[in-house]
Amino acid sequence: MSRPFRALAALLALAVALPATPATAAPPDQPDRSGATREPGNGPERDEVAATDGPLRAFAGTRGHNQPTKTDGYPRRTSLRVYPEDPTDRAIKLGLVPYHGIAPALNDLQARSDRVSVEVVGQSTLGRDLYLVTVTAPERGTETHRQDRWRRLIEDDPRAAARDRELRAGYKTPVWINGNIHGDEWEGTDGSLRVITALATATDTATRRLLERSRLYFTVTNNPDGRVAGTRANGAGFDINRDHITSSQPESRAVRDVVIATQPVVMLDEHGYTGTTLIEPSSAPHGQNYDYDLYIRHAYPNALGMEAAVAALGHPETARADIPFRDYAPGDWDDWPPIFTPMYAIYQGAVGHTVEVPLQVNRGSYNSLPVEELRRRSGINTDVAAATIRAAIGYADTHRATLVADQIELFRRGWAGEAQRFVPDGFVPGFGPEDRYTTAFPRAYVIPAGNGQRSPAAAARLVDHLVAHDVRVRRAKEPFRLDGRTYPAGSYVVDMHQPKRGLANAVLEAGRDISSLVPQMYDISGWSHGLLWGATVHTSRRAAPRVPTAAVAVASPTGDLSAPSGRDLLLTVADGKDVQAVNALLDAGVRLRRQDGGTVVVPASARRAARDVAERLGVRFTAARPHPGGTALTKQVLAAAVAADELLVLRELGFDVRPVSTAVLNAGFDLSGVDTLVVSSGLSYPALNPAAKAGVDALLARGGLVTRGATGARFNADAGVLPARAVAGRSDANGVVSVVNGTGPVGSGALPHSFVYGPLWFTDLGAGVTADQRYASTPLVAGHWIANPDGTGGPTGAAGQAAVVSGVGPRGTAAVLFGTEPLFRAHPKGLFAQIGHAIFWTATHNQPET
Ligand SMILES: [Zn+2]
Repeated sequence: MSRPFRALAALLALAVALPATPATAAPPDQPDRSGATREPGNGPERDEVAATDGPLRAFAGTRGHNQPTKTDGYPRRTSLRVYPEDPTDRAIKLGLVPYHGIAPALNDLQARSDRVSVEVVGQSTLGRDLYLVTVTAPERGTETHRQDRWRRLIEDDPRAAARDRELRAGYKTPVWINGNIHGDEWEGTDGSLRVITALATATDTATRRLLERSRLYFTVTNNPDGRVAGTRANGAGFDINRDHITSSQPESRAVRDVVIATQPVVMLDEHGYTGTTLIEPSSAPHGQNYDYDLYIRHAYPNALGMEAAVAALGHPETARADIPFRDYAPGDWDDWPPIFTPMYAIYQGAVGHTVEVPLQVNRGSYNSLPVEELRRRSGINTDVAAATIRAAIGYADTHRATLVADQIELFRRGWAGEAQRFVPDGFVPGFGPEDRYTTAFPRAYVIPAGNGQRSPAAAARLVDHLVAHDVRVRRAKEPFRLDGRTYPAGSYVVDMHQPKRGLANAVLEAGRDISSLVPQMYDISGWSHGLLWGATVHTSRRAAPRVPTAAVAVASPTGDLSAPSGRDLLLTVADGKDVQAVNALLDAGVRLRRQDGGTVVVPASARRAARDVAERLGVRFTAARPHPGGTALTKQVLAAAVAADELLVLRELGFDVRPVSTAVLNAGFDLSGVDTLVVSSGLSYPALNPAAKAGVDALLARGGLVTRGATGARFNADAGVLPARAVAGRSDANGVVSVVNGTGPVGSGALPHSFVYGPLWFTDLGAGVTADQRYASTPLVAGHWIANPDGTGGPTGAAGQAAVVSGVGPRGTAAVLFGTEPLFRAHPKGLFAQIGHAIFWTATHNQPET
């Protein structure tokens, strides 16, 4: 996952207010450990390159069978569909296996060996198959059922599992290797295939015995689209290794389901290229919801074993490895957010490690180095990947008794609601006070049913998300009281006495302000489904509800239409689901009106369409008052110069979106059919040629403008739309913030929390400009936000300042400027409606009321 973005962030932090052109090189006084370049999507770069519908969209998966053999046991052979040869596959130049070569290789291995099973566990964004290879000794169905029963026992009844001698003797150690999650970090796939092949064909007794007592799982490439295209991101422009608690992408959902189904005790996520091989465990801060003693007591020695295996390869380039826990300072390479595969996997019971193979072959090196040198490097990298995989399998086999016992212990502590253990200094070499992160788990969370939710659809979405992540949620069969509140029957309870309480808490808690603890962080430091996903979630510190409950497999339907026949209907736009509903009704030809408060009126004649939408999206329609008024709202066509995450969400909300950028507009893109311009990335007003500028000016004269972040604010300033001065906070500051809502289209009814990454605020608001939302007096709730070295850009500077503004400027354009990140990585789902409100408002502000 190479992390040089920090160096860039530090450099940018020196620039005050709206850096025009971020520098691209690491400052000379900071060694760039990565040997690599920046990581698009993780920082300010996100604002510079607008997302497009690239040629990748043309890819279509080939038809084939993919039918697995019918068996209860192993092997589970699947005749994989074979993809046509793609001579442009970027792996070819490196001498590595192209994506189209993987299925034939796996089909061949399945034919040759009864130790190899392949299952298709999903498809990539662009439709390519995701493979799970299982290597184990053949099993009869009865044996597989026994293994399944033991695996469930470990999670469901760990006390019984701990007492079960047969389990201890016979449970096959599950190990999971994830390869190539970053598409242009290829060799995890090739190293996996090498190890799979060796295990499948070895004739020695040691291998046979290993496979009799192990299940070795390989997701050989987690990102086929990126592998083919040579991109870090997947086909939708998302970094999958930032998506694990958001699950917005099929690739992250697939491995989530794999880790839950296989319950590995050890896992590796194979990456590149850090110059020197890098093997986790990480430096502090460590995720506060881990039972860290159970993790580090294995992670550290396993890393030492992998380090020794890499050194034993004998390449001069692999003589040593970096282990961040041992070698880096706090904040340099942390395991704080569970957005990374291994950090997520720890909560699912695995000892997770990121491994970075050393030698750069992507980006600039891919294009500039001779093929022989690239292939030499890829060969060494493949050696490193294979060596770490073998070493980790060896560690898991040698220490299988304690690894399984410790997974049992993790789940036992969860069920028992025991406090995390105090980890003493020197628990493993180098463990010190700086490594000690703990929390006090609450006793329960409650997600109220009924009128306790501003958006019942949001509550249902959160429940379904928790269940999909194997968090146990129960539904109250009767009303109950807890902490002085009364809850109706049907309310959801997350009893924190459960095996995966760490993950439940990581998702539902507010998080923590860690700004004072470390000088910097690698990626985001704050997130919270509890605060940002639009559902009301109550925390009960000490008491669990005393009420009969039932396990929840899927949230109850929330769609509703309660209005007398013949009455106009009202939809309150509180959530992205409501925005989707508005666009779905517009698509169905329903004539809608928008009222001043942002509610939408549906005519009585469209009752059937409204009922369909209510059932499909879980939204609620109520009766409008007679003669409800409002302004005609039509389907909005957006021209969007935005980041990939924003493009995805705008489309999910149902808008008709045309991706643009400076280059696209200068090439003659026709804006005449566009209603609203959305700008956050890759669009500069001064850089437009005269024809493009005329097109933009015409759009601004008749339509609306919505901007986000520094690029958007600069566009607003350059085009002279809204009189407001944007001030940039520190560029790597990020997290959950408290906001105070005012008036205006976004401020009315918004959540009291928002999300920032490189926060922005607005001062010197001119005539006609409203502060929809302001940062609270102490803005940061959870995350990392400190001031620049000169004292600017910190949270005290932002306190009380406008975070979102709206108005109609001197050009007559209705505009909304966001200094927050309502669509960031498709995560803060409770904020999506703010963008909908902004667009619907700009669409109706100068229309006559009907
Ligand atoms: Zn990576």
